[in-house]
Amino acid sequence: MALIKVGINGFGTIGKRVASAVSAQDDMEVVGVTKTRPSFESEVARYRGFDLYTPQKSVELFEKANVPVEGTVEDLCGKVDIMVDCTPGNVGPEYKAMYAKAGIKAIFQGGEDHSLTGISFNSTANYKESWGAQFSRVVSCNTTGLLRTLYPIDRRFGIEKAYVTLVRRAADPGDSKSGPINGLEPTVKLPTHHGPDVQSIMPWVNINTMAIKASTTIMHMHTVTLELKNPASTEAAVEAIRNSSRVRMVDAASGIKSTAEIMELSRDLARDRSDMYEIVVWEDGVKAAGNMLYYYQAVHQESDVVPENVDCIRSMCKVCDAADSVKMTNQALGIPYKC
Ligand code: NAD
Repeated sequence: MALIKVGINGFGTIGKRVASAVSAQDDMEVVGVTKTRPSFESEVARYRGFDLYTPQKSVELFEKANVPVEGTVEDLCGKVDIMVDCTPGNVGPEYKAMYAKAGIKAIFQGGEDHSLTGISFNSTANYKESWGAQFSRVVSCNTTGLLRTLYPIDRRFGIEKAYVTLVRRAADPGDSKSGPINGLEPTVKLPTHHGPDVQSIMPWVNINTMAIKASTTIMHMHTVTLELKNPASTEAAVEAIRNSSRVRMVDAASGIKSTAEIMELSRDLARDRSDMYEIVVWEDGVKAAGNMLYYYQAVHQESDVVPENVDCIRSMCKVCDAADSVKMTNQALGIPYKC
């Protein structure tokens, strides 16, 4: 079978990871990536073997810096089956018409509104909804994290109401313009956008979210409180979470007491860029009491959406079903497989 030809528009935090993950698959290839100006990241793209493209208005910048580019973003559109748009939030809409004109498919990221595509994607919860679609959107890192545990718990016990507080990293580790902040900043407009974003995929779930920005760059942390339709024991809840796809259970008793040790574990696993694609749940932090269930989960914001982008490509290009796609993606990225 011919390889799916993939372009990556925006080779930043998410784009460079999606490019590496796509390259690691047997059924797709990266045709090119885009940068808006010559920088260390455009050198990284070349070092990793990716052809560079740039918006028309930036061609001169690359010529002046003697950095070769293969063409414009529009040229790249002419060479691919699907573009993964990893530009910053609210930039994607500027490109939608270009993708439509080129007759290619495109995946947008969580910084865009659900209304841009009308379909949002999560591998576990709704793989089929993007089947054959021209446009879809992989939900944000926090929403992906919530769906990874809420969906299986809802299927097993039923969720009457979900209350989630998100403690959010202030900036990504490589971003020196937005942080660090010395303070805790609540999002005062409630509910935060995370609950409605979960509902773009699980519209039946009654969920309320609050969020606090914290002085950290490495991960987000969620405290999750669920009112269940059917009572669960702590053991049954642990089992349901443990068996969930792309969820890793850890134990504070084993020394993983914070997001710092999770990132150390990530480095020890020696994956590309030390990424932790799984949502991490503390087993000894899961507690069920009657119809209530409480747990903590940590989200590696830079990478949890990466395997979902790969699966979304397969769904939109009608390659295989969800279980096969998740298995292939996990194998290529070194994620333990659970269906
Ligand atoms: P980023 O700023 O790290 O990278 C964006 C890239 O797009 C940069 O390389 C930038 O040069 C490029 N770019 C900017 N304007 C462009 C344009 N007009 N044309 C082409 N390229 C352009 O951003 P990011 O963190 O990778 O975020 C990308 C998307 O992924 C956003 O929608 C964001 O909300 C979402 N997302 C981010 C995270 C995260 O934690 N960083 C997690 C999940 C989802």
